[in-house]
Amino acid sequence: MTAQNAIARKAITGARIFDGQTWHAGKALLVEDGIVSGIVGHGGLPENTELVDVNGQLLVPGFIDLQVNGGGGVMLNHRQDVDGIRTICAAHARFGTTALLPTLITDTFDIRQRTVEAGLQAKAQRVPGFLGLHLEGPHLSVARKGAHDPALIRPMDAADLEALLACKGAFDAMMITVAPENTTVEQVASLSAAGFIISIGHTDTGYATVAAYADAGARTVTHLFNAMSPLGHREPGVVGAALDRGDLYAGIIADGFHVDPVSMGVALRAKAGPGRIFIVTDAMSTIGSDQTGFMLNGRDIFRKDGRLTLADGTLAGADIDMLSSVHFAHEKLGLPLDEAIRMASAYPADAMRIEARKGRLLPGLDADFVILTETLDMVSTWIGGACVFEA
Ligand SMILES: [Zn+2]
Repeated sequence: MTAQNAIARKAITGARIFDGQTWHAGKALLVEDGIVSGIVGHGGLPENTELVDVNGQLLVPGFIDLQVNGGGGVMLNHRQDVDGIRTICAAHARFGTTALLPTLITDTFDIRQRTVEAGLQAKAQRVPGFLGLHLEGPHLSVARKGAHDPALIRPMDAADLEALLACKGAFDAMMITVAPENTTVEQVASLSAAGFIISIGHTDTGYATVAAYADAGARTVTHLFNAMSPLGHREPGVVGAALDRGDLYAGIIADGFHVDPVSMGVALRAKAGPGRIFIVTDAMSTIGSDQTGFMLNGRDIFRKDGRLTLADGTLAGADIDMLSSVHFAHEKLGLPLDEAIRMASAYPADAMRIEARKGRLLPGLDADFVILTETLDMVSTWIGGACVFEA
């Protein structure tokens, strides 16, 4: 065996390891060529293994964030190049995120095409943490526009569909948020069949329509409760459909401002499976930066007391990172730590159908993990067995 091969095998020791299902004490995470090869007792370590002692901390699956508009002072809507994507991924790695979908908020056809080009470059350059893209809009409902510019919201036409289908297979994962008001069930069926994860969001539609779109292949619901028809007593709305349909997954923003903790708890208890509710940050450029505000589609967004708002008070994305969201789910919602971590790792992987590669620390999966203190403070972030951030 050459020295190089020896270095390619690492054992991360001295941590309590959560593999996404079970905690393991007194064992090591064995990593070969960036892939988990097992969780083994110290007697079971092969020769020529580099030992990395993390000194009595927690080792948990890296966080997967399917909705990230920006970070490190960069908004994807403002900057479509590989360095912008690299900055966003690096900003979120500081908070335990090991895979994310840079997310384009409603914008023009040209900006969307430039975003796809930048994403292709990020993939070619293997930017650490870049998983694929999330296109949130522009085919949404003006009635539930949130912070999206209504002047840019429009129906999906044949050119849009063709441009989207041209991205088939281009990324490890790609999510597209659409509203039935501006996207046909046939369009959703053809995009789903092509492997895109279609998410229903920013829509005022009712239960029956969501059910029809889910039947056509829609897989997730975008930021549950926000910018959608609520659960009513005679019309279950998008919220009711998301909870009732076991085949739907749903993202949720866990900052305590977008959704009241009581409503989050009710939703978590009511959710029919196997689909699950997973955490997204919906983070903007402010994460990992000292920005006090920024612009979006020519409008001012203000940052204050953990919120981001337009001048009229409309929430405009979130000012929260993934680790803080896990804290919130564990401490404010009272979820067991295992479950809070799964909502940020295993469940988004399942939702994106990448569970054979990411989301858990099982043999054959990417060695993407986070080292945390016992009080859940950041120690380090690892992507593909390489440390990308140390606190
Ligand atoms: Zn949104």
